[in-house]
Amino acid sequence: GLSIVAGVKLADAIVPVSDVWPISPRWFGQGLWAIAIISLLAYFGLPGMTILTSMLVVLGTVAIATYLVYRGRHGVQAARVAAPSAAVFAFVALASAVASTLASSDSMIASAAGGFAAVGALLLALAVAAGEGIAVLPFQSVAVMPAMTGPHIEAPLPEQLRVTGNASADAIGASHQGVFDLDFASDVLTLSMEGAALLGLSHLLRVRHGDWIGRIHPDDRATYTRAIQDYRAQAGLAFRIEFRVRSESGRYPWLELRATMMGTGHADRCLGLIADVTMRKESEAEVMDRTLRDPLTGLGNRVALMEELEQLGSRFKTTTFALIDIDRFKAIHASLGDRGGDDILKQIAGRLSKRFKGTAEVFRVGGDGFAMLFSREQGTPSAIGTQLIEASAEPYLQGDRNIFAPVSIGLASGQDAQDPLDFLKNAELALLQAKRTGGGCARLYSPELELIAPGDAVVLETDLRQAIQDKQIDLYYQPIVRLSDGVIAGFEALLRWHHPTKGLVAPAEFIAHSEETGTIVALGRFALERAAHDIARWQKFFPVEPPLFVSVNVSRRQLRDDDFGIFLGGLLHNTTVAPGTLKLEITEGAVATDKEALAALTRCRDLGAGLAIDDFGTGQSSLSQLKDLPFDTIKVDQSFLRSRNDALKNQEGEVLLKSIIDLARDLKRSVVVEGVETAEQAAWLKSNGCKFGQGFYFSRPLPTAEALRYIAMHFDPSGASGVAGEA
Ligand code: C2E
Ligand code: CA
Ligand code: CA
Repeated sequence: GLSIVAGVKLADAIVPVSDVWPISPRWFGQGLWAIAIISLLAYFGLPGMTILTSMLVVLGTVAIATYLVYRGRHGVQAARVAAPSAAVFAFVALASAVASTLASSDSMIASAAGGFAAVGALLLALAVAAGEGIAVLPFQSVAVMPAMTGPHIEAPLPEQLRVTGNASADAIGASHQGVFDLDFASDVLTLSMEGAALLGLSHLLRVRHGDWIGRIHPDDRATYTRAIQDYRAQAGLAFRIEFRVRSESGRYPWLELRATMMGTGHADRCLGLIADVTMRKESEAEVMDRTLRDPLTGLGNRVALMEELEQLGSRFKTTTFALIDIDRFKAIHASLGDRGGDDILKQIAGRLSKRFKGTAEVFRVGGDGFAMLFSREQGTPSAIGTQLIEASAEPYLQGDRNIFAPVSIGLASGQDAQDPLDFLKNAELALLQAKRTGGGCARLYSPELELIAPGDAVVLETDLRQAIQDKQIDLYYQPIVRLSDGVIAGFEALLRWHHPTKGLVAPAEFIAHSEETGTIVALGRFALERAAHDIARWQKFFPVEPPLFVSVNVSRRQLRDDDFGIFLGGLLHNTTVAPGTLKLEITEGAVATDKEALAALTRCRDLGAGLAIDDFGTGQSSLSQLKDLPFDTIKVDQSFLRSRNDALKNQEGEVLLKSIIDLARDLKRSVVVEGVETAEQAAWLKSNGCKFGQGFYFSRPLPTAEALRYIAMHFDPSGASGVAGEA
């Protein structure tokens, strides 16, 4: 009877009965107990029990054999292995039963009892071992593998997988995976042949777990040990980790382990599969690299910069940070288009990388911004600033044209920063200051800059609206002078903001923003109204011929405003401004490619406004195009004079400037060269036939009262100055 109990238990352990017969484990267990008790009672000679036990033995052995044969025929390998012995067992039981019945005596069964007892003991031992999963079924636990994460996921598995057998092992090998078997009790890790092959070994690997950990890449070691430790506490948990392990050739292939913690409560074994995932990891690294690199220039991007800053550690204290921003990139982009703009960016990236090769790393941060990190050995921040300004002063070749792309530079020294973010913020503040000072220069961060730091955009916007209401916005006038005799010809009107706490704020700080929000429309109307009003008055006080003019900056956003024409028409109608002397000054970039803007400008001209093209030479329009554009005045960008001052580019700058002047004269357009800062420049322009100059050499932008005084001191009382129609 006990042999039968053991036999049933063993059969169930090898090939679970519950797979085909949904019997509850409790009933199953109780049935076995019943058999055990019946056989015990038979042993003590209870009437009827002996015959009952004999019947159970015969039926039981036959049932076990039948069951195993049945399962074996349905593909269960283990059942097939066990079926013959079960059949022999059943045959012996049957034979002895038949013999004992024929002989009508107990002796035959009794003679077989010793054999049964021995078989029973063996079966019982095997059943216990199988139940505990100690021997027999190395791959049984593969059953939980499909569940990758999450505790206690029990997936019903196709039978084939649950089985020990060559097919499974072959399949595992064929999928380039190996078996990973970590026994916590003995602290031994076993890797199957296939697993060991991933590390270049040709034999099964059995190592102490500690030695295995020693083989793991130092960067991954902590992850691995922590995972194993944490997961071990949750037996039944299936998990997946990736780590690098030193191979025989000294390389570190990436391995992926998918395994389950076996046991109850605290796991005593970790069993799973490992595979080589180096290829996948490398392509992931490539993707990662792409997230760190700017595709256009190939330079590191902002993320890469932040990583670099973080990796500097304490070294950032001895580092100089330069943020570089192209002053008029919007204009360059507007006139050269996407392709041209991109090309300039690439050229800038290339030039910076080449000039500072080995001394600094270049990053592209944002649309037209670059960042560089210099170590202390590369010189003081101001020396670095000078080098950078010099490097970006040269023009870039676009087709057959030279494009100037001067830059503003914000410098920060690591000493002044608490951490990388602080460092970046300091450089940004310095850059803002460089822009405020008019661009084309470098500024070094100092703590005082914090005081004039800008508020956020929303604050700026409400501030600006308030400013218009509170009459904090003012218009300054910068004289435009006739070079032949220094007589005043007109003014450029420039916005200023008397900020209650920041003091006088230059337009660089609020124009771009107000263009984005649309506040420029209100600001622009204010400027036009004030300028029209002032110039009408001055023309009355100083009636010279040709009359004094005023040039008011107008942005493209204003031209797009539907009511702009009506507003301008009304303004010209209601003031006594001489025809053509209220000029609209618009940047070359804003109109060169914008047909609508050009049409709007032409309408303005028909209303009686003059038109000046601003910052000429920074954009795309070629000299020959000028004759088709409706402008009466050309304002040559400051960068031309600056590049002329540079001994290196002396020739080129001069030739260009000269040809613009000559052509404009042929086309009967007035030329104003901006940024005249020295007497030498003024003299050179004069001797080269340039009619008008504007710049600090003559005067900085002046408030209304001072502008009036300037006229008084510089006007031509004979009133016969200038050639009619040209100014
Ligand atoms: P912009 O039209 O190129 O104006 C010339 C800028 O160069 C002015 O700066 C002027 O102060 C500065 N400047 C004049 N002479 C010299 C010189 O000799 N050397 C140097 N380094 N700079 C000189 P500001 O006043 O800061 O104006 C900056 C820009 O703001 C202007 O550039 C213009 O684009 C814009 N802006 C000013 N007022 C208005 C306005 O009412 N409406 C619009 N839409 N834009 C305006
Ligand atoms: Ca201007
Ligand atoms: Ca200008």
